[in-house]
Amino acid sequence: AASRAQSRSTRQWQQADSAHFLHPFTDHAALARKGARIITRAEGIYLWDSEGHKILDAMSGLWCVNTGYGQQGLVDAATRQMQELPFYNAFFQTSTPPAIELAELLAEVTPPQFDKVFFTCSGSEGNDTVVRMVRHYWASLGQPQRRILISRHNGYHGSTMAGASLGGMSGMHAQGGLPIPDIHHIQQPHWFEHGQGQSREDFGLTAAHWLEDKILELGPERVAAFIGEPVQGAGGVIVPPSTYWPEIQRICDKYGILLVSDEVICGFGRTGQWFGCETMGTRPDLMTFAKGVTSGYVPLGGVMVSQRVSDVLASHGEFNHGFTYSGHPVACAVATANIRLIQQMNLVAHVRQNIGPYLAQRLQDVAAHPLVGEVQSCAMMAAVQLVQDKAKLQCFKPELEVGMLCRAHCFGNGLIMRAVGDRMIIAPPLVMSRAQVDEMVNLILHCLDLSL
Ligand code: PLP
Repeated sequence: AASRAQSRSTRQWQQADSAHFLHPFTDHAALARKGARIITRAEGIYLWDSEGHKILDAMSGLWCVNTGYGQQGLVDAATRQMQELPFYNAFFQTSTPPAIELAELLAEVTPPQFDKVFFTCSGSEGNDTVVRMVRHYWASLGQPQRRILISRHNGYHGSTMAGASLGGMSGMHAQGGLPIPDIHHIQQPHWFEHGQGQSREDFGLTAAHWLEDKILELGPERVAAFIGEPVQGAGGVIVPPSTYWPEIQRICDKYGILLVSDEVICGFGRTGQWFGCETMGTRPDLMTFAKGVTSGYVPLGGVMVSQRVSDVLASHGEFNHGFTYSGHPVACAVATANIRLIQQMNLVAHVRQNIGPYLAQRLQDVAAHPLVGEVQSCAMMAAVQLVQDKAKLQCFKPELEVGMLCRAHCFGNGLIMRAVGDRMIIAPPLVMSRAQVDEMVNLILHCLDLSL
């Protein structure tokens, strides 16, 4: 890979890139002006670009490289599987050993209500599957009018038509005729934006009751499911108050509505438990996953299905849904190797007992910085809210783009941090050491100083 990267100059890579590659979520005029940063190799928690700069990847790629880069065991699992059986599908009464092994392992590591998995290639496809699955579930039970899914503004559930409709990103809804029918949104449990004046705990209950209000407005008999990320990721790492999720669970139970946990970011250890729903104390009926299941080495996603739902699906004929690559043998072999690695490294306990609390402690130094209004974290995901006036928690005018300025300083100083407006977010690999947390926090402080 290194020699391929060196076969052209950075400028040549950039020119070919901007000529032919239509990137996701990218301003192409700016890309053509500045040229993409070409990432050429990675090891542990670090990346290198085509100019030889070393970068600490505080975003785990895109929230996915949980076990870090350069895990030879994952490479070996892919190689072995490609040699033995690179592809066979799981349609029409066939199956393959890697898909079966992974399904079995997922049933073991997920909460006890989950006994089956439906495989997809991505988180978006997982959430699309959820929309069809919950409607099919209710129709099978003789309640076809239960079609509505409720989700949250500023949530992110993917980029397919249904995924982006479930998501509450206004920029996405503005393009392509979204949302699709029978998807409704409630406000997010974001204390900094909507809750100041109330204690966090009281606000958590207020925000959960927005769900009950919406259910009553729409008619409980029409509502199929509620979906949410345990901690909203792409929306800016919105860690809900501790009162929020238990109340959401109570409301779903009260109206018999299915609860869906989107674990695409929170799954596989990031919140200090195997899954975010365990950290937040809910018992979802369905759970979508992707990213961390393979640590991003190959694409794979899916939906964990509880017995409540799988029993109904199994007894009502065929669910006419699936992807060519549902249960792809190579992806499944890599996922199994990755989950075994998480187990062998005791990585979830490392996050919960060691590196998560240490990160929270070190982020107090960041919270004290004059540019920072609040820091929120949940184990290995955190947000740093930039403010103009620290005492009054007053935000900058959006047009100043202070977050983008800070992000540019990070980029220039060997740190990848993402900007969601003026919220700087991190979700580093779970394999970090304390010394690496120190290194990351020092870099963050340096970049905040530069942004003053
Ligand atoms: N759900 C959540 C919570 C996500 O963060 C993402 C992606 O960032 C998705 C779904 C979509 O996953 P994918 O990009 O694999 O389709």
